[in-house]
Amino acid sequence: MCPSSICSLCGNSLESVQHLFFQCTRVRDLWDTVIGGVVGPQDVIESSSSSVADFLHNWLPFYRNPLGRKLGKTLPFVLLWTTCKFRNDYIFRGIEIDRWKFQLEVKAISWYWLGGGTQNKNHRFEELVFDWQRLLTS
Ligand SMILES: [Zn+2]
Repeated sequence: MCPSSICSLCGNSLESVQHLFFQCTRVRDLWDTVIGGVVGPQDVIESSSSSVADFLHNWLPFYRNPLGRKLGKTLPFVLLWTTCKFRNDYIFRGIEIDRWKFQLEVKAISWYWLGGGTQNKNHRFEELVFDWQRLLTS
């Protein structure tokens, strides 16, 4: 049996790296839950959809507050990682993709990769959950 090369998430296109990360409507919807309304990331996605390398190269840590700046540097990697994880969980384990769980997982992985409370003593994970927009825009 030959596996299908059609995108398992949207079913509308051949699956490629470019499609999965930058063109798939289901992935766009997931990413929108994380970076929707934040000026900058969406422009980067639109302008660098030719490769993951371009996406990472063009991503700018444009946030002014210290935690937001750290988040900004980590976020593109977390988005790629979490997208792969959710895609694989859907395909190989039959786990439905949930926007809220995706958003929360991006925030949790970001917090973990930034060293959590150990490296960010003046902050708590709850800030990422409830004050994400402010962290990324102020
Ligand atoms: Zn797709």
